[in-house]
Amino acid sequence: MQPRKTWPDILITSLLIALPLLALGWATGQFWPTLAFLLGAALAWNIANLLWLETWLRRGGRADPPDVRGLWGVIFDHLYRRRRRHENRVHRLRQLLERYRDSAKAMPDAVVVLNDDLRIEWLNDMSCQLLGLHWPRDEGQRITHLLRHPEFLTFMERARESLARVTVPSPLDSERQLEMRMLPYGDAQYLLLARDTTHLHRLEVMRRDFIANVSHELRTPLTVLYGVTESLEDELEDQPQLARSVQMLREQSERMKLLVDDLLLLSRLETGETTGPQDWFNPFPLFQKLTDEARILSGTEAHAIVLDADPKLEFQGNPDELRSACANLLFNAVKYTPGGTTITLRWRVDDDGARLSVEDTGPGIASHHLGRLTERFYRVDAGRTQSRGGTGLGLAIVKHVLARHEGHLAIESQVGRGSRFTCLFPLARIRRAEPSGPSN
Ligand code: ADP
Repeated sequence: MQPRKTWPDILITSLLIALPLLALGWATGQFWPTLAFLLGAALAWNIANLLWLETWLRRGGRADPPDVRGLWGVIFDHLYRRRRRHENRVHRLRQLLERYRDSAKAMPDAVVVLNDDLRIEWLNDMSCQLLGLHWPRDEGQRITHLLRHPEFLTFMERARESLARVTVPSPLDSERQLEMRMLPYGDAQYLLLARDTTHLHRLEVMRRDFIANVSHELRTPLTVLYGVTESLEDELEDQPQLARSVQMLREQSERMKLLVDDLLLLSRLETGETTGPQDWFNPFPLFQKLTDEARILSGTEAHAIVLDADPKLEFQGNPDELRSACANLLFNAVKYTPGGTTITLRWRVDDDGARLSVEDTGPGIASHHLGRLTERFYRVDAGRTQSRGGTGLGLAIVKHVLARHEGHLAIESQVGRGSRFTCLFPLARIRRAEPSGPSN
């Protein structure tokens, strides 16, 4: 398209046409009729251009603008260029959107875009294969009306606040496991992602079964070995050297027995197999018993073991599992702090929930270890741990027990000042004992 004239050019051209005509009109005594003719011609020209403009716009303004001279030509040009720019921008955005949709379509995971009301706005092909959804048939449907697994429904109730993840069987094939996640996205929208974790799940089950089976098979021979070494030790009182070797054998088989017991407990906790009921009970007597046992474990080291517990608080959970978690924390405090240290077992409730904490004034743990303490076999000081009879599984057991009671473990420690291990439980699991309830 040829560049149009600019404002000054248009003015000059108009004057070059109008002025000679007006001068001629003046000279011939026809000034006013000439002026009227010029004004009429200008008006007619403007009306004709307005009509062109309207017709051009009505047809979408996409065709080349009419080849009009003067100011109208400039207006047509501006409108045409603006329209082209807008179309280019829309084209680019459409391409971007297509590319984004193509990449979401190519993802090996199911992607579902949900609005704030959990209604489906868009989904990719994998959502059809993994979740049994259909596009566009399910557009606008509430996801909770289409996927009805109870665990998924509970997850969706909480997902917007906690944005956690859940593993549930696929609605199309109960043998397949899907891991679902919710992510906030855009303006009050959510991305529901689901991926097939059947393979990982099978490996995890195999791993757990393997550990559980091996531990189970080792238990009997170890018990026999331990029993034999114990009786042999009594027989060998007159052969001190041999007795010493047998004693070492007994100590090692005892360690292995502890390890196997902890591994079995851990795999029971992991597989979700409950070791007993989750009833209301008052844990105060349990804490009293455990502090007595801790004093016996401390023996001549004479740790000062203090129980600061609310005797009227009842807890909903499994007493054996709570015992196991509390014993691990309390006995760790005895094992890993020098004699004479003060160890406090606290059991309190506040607005945030119930807290069971074990605090000591021992050597503490350097901060870089804290995040890894609950890993299996993680030890701060391997040599010292083994000499204190630790299996390296204690805190992993505590973590699993707490997870089964909707709780979590907080570890605070300062080198040279001591450590505090706190088990936090939700308020829903705590109640005050009725006045006529169990007394202590
Ligand atoms: P273990 O069964 O061997 O005691 P845990 O999982 O219970 O293993 O503990 C992991 C490590 O955390 C221990 O090896 C020990 O080094 C450290 N630890 C645990 N409790 C304390 C404590 N109260 N003070 C110092 N270190 C501790």
